[in-house]
Amino acid sequence: MARYTGPVCRLCRREDAQLYLKGDRCFSGKCAYERRPYPPGQHGQARKRRPSYFGQQLREKQKVKRMYGLLEKQFRGYYYKATRMKGVTGENLLSLLERRLDNVVVRSGMAASHAEARQLVRHGHFTVNGRRVDIPSYLVSMGDVVEVREKSRKIQKIIDALANSDRTPTPAWLEVDKDKFVAKVTALPTRSDIAQDVDEQLIVELYSK
Ligand code: SF4
Repeated sequence: MARYTGPVCRLCRREDAQLYLKGDRCFSGKCAYERRPYPPGQHGQARKRRPSYFGQQLREKQKVKRMYGLLEKQFRGYYYKATRMKGVTGENLLSLLERRLDNVVVRSGMAASHAEARQLVRHGHFTVNGRRVDIPSYLVSMGDVVEVREKSRKIQKIIDALANSDRTPTPAWLEVDKDKFVAKVTALPTRSDIAQDVDEQLIVELYSK
C-alpha cells in the first residue's frame, strides 16, 4: 500500500479521535474533527451501527498506525518485534513506537506533528549522541541525547514548534532543554507514559489470530 497522501483530518474523523496530525491547526478552532465529529464520506452521518468485535480491533489498529504515521508492513513488523520481547506484547508494541526518533522529536516539542518530524529527521537536522541520524525509525535507548544540529537551529519550523510546545506535556521519560535544542532519554517509555486513549489489547488480538 502506498503512503496516504489525502487529507489527514479525514483520518481523525474515520478513527473517531483526535490524532493531532496537523500541528497548530489541531489546537485551533479549525479542527475538522471538532467541527464534524462523524466519519467522512457520503454515509458518514447515517445512523451508527455497533461495530463487530473484529471492527473494533481493526479500528484500534488503524488508529495507532495512523497516530505514528506508519504503513501496515512497518506496523506489523513492530508487533512481531514486540512478541519476541519479554513482558506484555501490547505494552512492548507501544513502547517501541514511542522510541522511534521521529516520535521523540514530536514528544520533545521540536516538531509540530509526526509528518513534520519525519521530514526534519530525513533532512538530517538531528543528531543522536553527537552523530547525525536521518532515519525516522531509529530506536532511541536510555541515555541517548537527541539534539538539533547547530546549523539547523535557525529553522523556523523547529523554533515555532518549541515556542508552542507547552500545549502538550513533555513525557516523564524525556528531559528537554528548549534553549539548547536538546532532549535526553532518561528512561524507556512505559504504558503509563502514553497519554492518548489506546486499547493495545485489541491490536494484539487482531494480529494473533
Ligand atoms: Fe485531526 Fe488535527 Fe485535523 Fe483535528 S486538525 S481533525 S486533530 S489532524
